[in-house]
Amino acid sequence: MMKMHNFSAGPCILPAEVMKKAAQAVVELDGSGLSLIEISHRSVEFVAIMEKARSLVLELMDLKGKGYEVLFMQGGASMEFLRVAYNLLENEAGYINTGTWSTKAIKEARLFGKVAEVASSEADGFRSVPKGYTIPEGLDYLHLTTNNTIFGTQFKAIPQTDAPLVADMSSDIFSRNFAYDAFDLIYAGAQKNMGPAGTTVVIVKGELLGKVSRKIPSMLDYSVHLSKDSMFNTPPVFAVYTSMLNLEWLKEQGGIGAIEEVNEKKAKLLYSEIDLNPLFEGFAAKEDRSSMNATFTLTKPELKEKFDSMWRAAGINGLNGHRSVGGYRASMYNALSLESVGVLVDVMSDLERNA
Ligand SMILES: *Cc1c(COP(=O)(O)O)cnc(C)c1O
Repeated sequence: MMKMHNFSAGPCILPAEVMKKAAQAVVELDGSGLSLIEISHRSVEFVAIMEKARSLVLELMDLKGKGYEVLFMQGGASMEFLRVAYNLLENEAGYINTGTWSTKAIKEARLFGKVAEVASSEADGFRSVPKGYTIPEGLDYLHLTTNNTIFGTQFKAIPQTDAPLVADMSSDIFSRNFAYDAFDLIYAGAQKNMGPAGTTVVIVKGELLGKVSRKIPSMLDYSVHLSKDSMFNTPPVFAVYTSMLNLEWLKEQGGIGAIEEVNEKKAKLLYSEIDLNPLFEGFAAKEDRSSMNATFTLTKPELKEKFDSMWRAAGINGLNGHRSVGGYRASMYNALSLESVGVLVDVMSDLERNA
């Protein structure tokens, strides 16, 4: 099999050894004579997998012993848009709008109560992250999307507020050292940087829950899932297992600090090329550029066909921008190697030489 350089925004690249181990477990789990996907989720084997996955999340984010619990949920990050509001919104919540995903989160939250759009970068086409705004007092929580997957912007600093902080970290979780303990609830769809599609990790401080007056259906109630150790109903066993393998891989690499160094090198390499090569132009404001998703366009659109055939010939996949933005988007999640970014940069400079 020819291995492609996969810059896809999600579902994303995972380390080859994780793919291999996951495939092997589908055939047979650890010499048990049974497949991972046919054993009971209540079996000793699977309960241990779930516990290991939950524990690795806290360990890698340095959240052990700080009152956090981990859930592996279903419904994607999109389900958390409504589950967060259902569980936490009583009077008023604040949202910072940095693009498509925050806009969707706001839309869902408004079904359950008052939502203040505290700040928005819509006026500049979501090329930046809002700055210099005031956060109202007394909010039930403040919600932000730490990395804007579509427009390629990323919060570099955490907003200061007394309100509980809730973050959609779908596309930059486990990618950088961050004061994760500044947040009270973090959620992330697995398929951007943690594992295959099919599960969403939710990391929540227990004390945050149980404060709203509405009745919450069991499947939407974080407390119910917590009381059952994330096994209220059948969990997505394959997605949880593969995420666990990927978290083990990350730990072997030296954890988040070590992968952050590589991620910074990758981002620096690509953004330098975007800035130096006159044929390319970055989309996002420089100070807010995402180290995960780099968005850029051609300054000479007539070169599109040529550039597209060049990167395809180099074994690159998934470089087209989101349909709402156009241009190009190079997603550089944890498992993408520095070498793959080098291949892309070489194609970009070849285009300059031959244009
Ligand atoms: C992809 C993405 C989502 C949507 O995730 P689903 O799991 O498809 O629901 C939400 N937020 C962010 C930041 C994303 O990148």
